[in-house]
Amino acid sequence: TYNFSAGPGVLPEAVITQIKQEFEKNEHTHMSIVEISHRSQQFQTIVANAEQKLRQLMQIPDNYGVVFLQGGGSTQFEMLPLNFATKQQKIAFLDSGNFAAKAGEAAQQLGKSVTVLASTKPTHYQSLPALPQDFDATAYDYLHIVTNNTIEGATFHQNNLPKTTGRLVADMSSNILAEPYQVTDFDAIFAGGQKNLGPAGVTVAIIKKDWLAEQDLTGVGPMMRYQNHIDKQSMYNTSPVFAIYALDLVLDWVIAQGGVAAMHERNLAKANRLYDYLDQSGFYTAPVEKSARSLTNIVFTTGDLARDKLIAKQAETQGLFNLAGHRSVGGFRASLYNAQPMAAVDALITFLKKVEAEQA
Ligand code: PLP
Repeated sequence: TYNFSAGPGVLPEAVITQIKQEFEKNEHTHMSIVEISHRSQQFQTIVANAEQKLRQLMQIPDNYGVVFLQGGGSTQFEMLPLNFATKQQKIAFLDSGNFAAKAGEAAQQLGKSVTVLASTKPTHYQSLPALPQDFDATAYDYLHIVTNNTIEGATFHQNNLPKTTGRLVADMSSNILAEPYQVTDFDAIFAGGQKNLGPAGVTVAIIKKDWLAEQDLTGVGPMMRYQNHIDKQSMYNTSPVFAIYALDLVLDWVIAQGGVAAMHERNLAKANRLYDYLDQSGFYTAPVEKSARSLTNIVFTTGDLARDKLIAKQAETQGLFNLAGHRSVGGFRASLYNAQPMAAVDALITFLKKVEAEQA
């Protein structure tokens, strides 16, 4: 069985085994990982280790804070404007998909001025919006981008990031640790854990400290302030203990696999194998422009959404789960996060070929 869910997504088998062992080991003491204090030495060590491992994997310099928070990516849509859109109260967005638009709406509801510099919505987000030539970064507190658009499948890879002289904030929820990014190109990065980092319940934020130090946060509540979470090493309030524990195991696994470079190589191989098949097929199309194609969320369609739905259902009988596209767009989406083995891609292609032979 293979799970192509876009999130929460598949985790490494080795991690699931370790989690099982953790519960079995502590079955009788009632002191498993979900039963201990977030102030315990055991948990403090886990958080400190997880932070160090993420710093190592992403080469995060010391002048960035790293925190593990609750509230998902959606809470970051609010924390970022509250902490950083404080001077001009203005945020620039590149509308590359649903989660860019949602972040913009959240900022607007907080009373910030939101400018969509460019949007690829009219062409169904099948390419990336370009930063206008005359973009004046000084007119905004920051520019918000979504590196990987989980639903629509277009990605700002490191080599096609918008080049701004101003502050840059990135939502990396669905491709953190899947491909390399230069952290110093960003002033803040966040990612919900439930795709490439672990289970749902933990969100990583990586924040440039000097930028934070410049802010006047009058009127911003304590839980919404990054500084409080940084000062308390992610233990400002009760931490999501289990999710951070599992994330730490996932980071161990990524390191053991060879780090982000190795993940990237494997992800490229997986995604290219699938795109190559789709591109030569006369039955399916992968609509995202080639230079912007996602490595983690591969979207495609037969062009007939009702038929796509039936095929995704049929796939389940072959052990291939969660292939239906997001409910807002339909079609197919195969999520190939770090833990997805090449064998899943091969099984998917075998299935798709069979359907093509029967139906084309
Ligand atoms: N940003 C991106 C790119 C996402 O894919 C998602 C969820 O899938 C979110 C933000 C929202 O995250 P959450 O559901 O954790 O609030």
